[in-house]
Amino acid sequence: MMWDVKTNLHRVLRQLPEGVRLVAISKYHPADYIMAAYEEGQRLFGESHEQEIREKHASLPKDIEWHFIGHLQTNKVKYIVPYISMIEAVDSLKLLREIEKQAAKADRVVKVLLELHIAEEATKYGLTMDDCRQLLDAGEWRQMTHVRICGLMMMASNVDDEQQIASEFQQAADFFDEVKAKYFAHDEQFCERSWGMSDDFPIAVSHRSTMVRVGTAIFGPRVY
Ligand SMILES: *Cc1c(COP(=O)(O)O)cnc(C)c1O
Repeated sequence: MMWDVKTNLHRVLRQLPEGVRLVAISKYHPADYIMAAYEEGQRLFGESHEQEIREKHASLPKDIEWHFIGHLQTNKVKYIVPYISMIEAVDSLKLLREIEKQAAKADRVVKVLLELHIAEEATKYGLTMDDCRQLLDAGEWRQMTHVRICGLMMMASNVDDEQQIASEFQQAADFFDEVKAKYFAHDEQFCERSWGMSDDFPIAVSHRSTMVRVGTAIFGPRVY
């Protein structure tokens, strides 16, 4: 049975308040699933593997905006920088420096989000709030003219407890306000809060998400 991408896409979109953008997470799904969403007007897609996004970018319509949402190794940065619209999961100064270097070579400005680690799982990537403050206090990012930090990204714990999930989104939203006031008060482009996935995006949008990353609820289960 063909997963009903169109129906599911509209079901997700209907649940998003105005001003919240949908990043359709298409990793591990074939190009015709992406095209089914594209034909309904979806233009923003997210992928988490360099080779997969490279192939999809090459073969799919050029007005698709691609976000890289996975853990990015520094040696892969050069391959995605020429076309990527946003790198959502920056979790080290080293990675930020490499994006700056490659974006300068490509003569582009690449938008990024800092990935926050709030969830309890030890396996998740990301910066703790303190790591994040340190990176921003150090100030090197202010000299970078080819990366633009546009906000924060985070993943809530993968648990059933909705209170816990809500509390993690709230912590992220509060931390966004702290960072905005302290480092980006006069930067209009620092405005993105990327949180919410298939199982928790309704909670995320009630905690000030501006961008949800939804895969399974649109495209069905992934076959790895
Ligand atoms: C895979 C992935 C998603 C989408 O997850 P679903 O549960 O399928 O909606 C969102 N964000 C990140 C970082 C992911 O890796």
